[in-house]
Amino acid sequence: MRLLIATSNRDKVREIRQVLDRIPFELVTLDEWPDVAAPEETGRTFEENARAKALYYAAATGELTVAEDSGLEIDALDGAPGVESARYGGVNLTYPQKFAVIYDALRATRATESPARFVCALALAKDGRVMFETRGTVEGRVAPEPKGAGGFGYDPIFFYPPYGRTLGEATADQKSAVSHRGEAFRALRRFLER
Ligand code: IMP
Repeated sequence: MRLLIATSNRDKVREIRQVLDRIPFELVTLDEWPDVAAPEETGRTFEENARAKALYYAAATGELTVAEDSGLEIDALDGAPGVESARYGGVNLTYPQKFAVIYDALRATRATESPARFVCALALAKDGRVMFETRGTVEGRVAPEPKGAGGFGYDPIFFYPPYGRTLGEATADQKSAVSHRGEAFRALRRFLER
């Protein structure tokens, strides 16, 4: 059996492969379908976007397809950047520039630190049907300043209290053990192995 990991984000693919290591499925990626365009992400929730992407890529490829939608929610910013995480502040901003936008926004609310969480909604689809859905989260807070060059995206500004460091400073194994994506894909793994 084949399983399509439907994301064009290479960092996500690397983390997902790590969790699904040695699963009895042949893992394939969107590299096999260079002509399939990415869908617009118009959902208001991570779940809506994950479902839409899974159904879209399953229809376009005929494969059993897993898609995820993820992002960072900062409480003091009413959940922003949320589903806009990849585009926050403008599609062309680098992550250090996005961090500056976030720190400015936090200063404007007089909150320098805030509880925050990463969320990963996952959907598995085939033949027009969503077969499995789950959500993983990891709770932490916005770090006082960016630290670490590991992981990707917002990891350097996500302080994870049990480790006493940001996820940008954690190893790949440490991140996977507690991350939103690790949790969601371990649930998928259990579902597929049943
Ligand atoms: P999506 O491709 O629309 O799901 O956007 C996900 C975005 O959320 C990424 O581009 C990152 O900005 C952010 N994000 C999701 N997961 C992580 C993570 O594990 N670490 C850091 N940033 C993340």
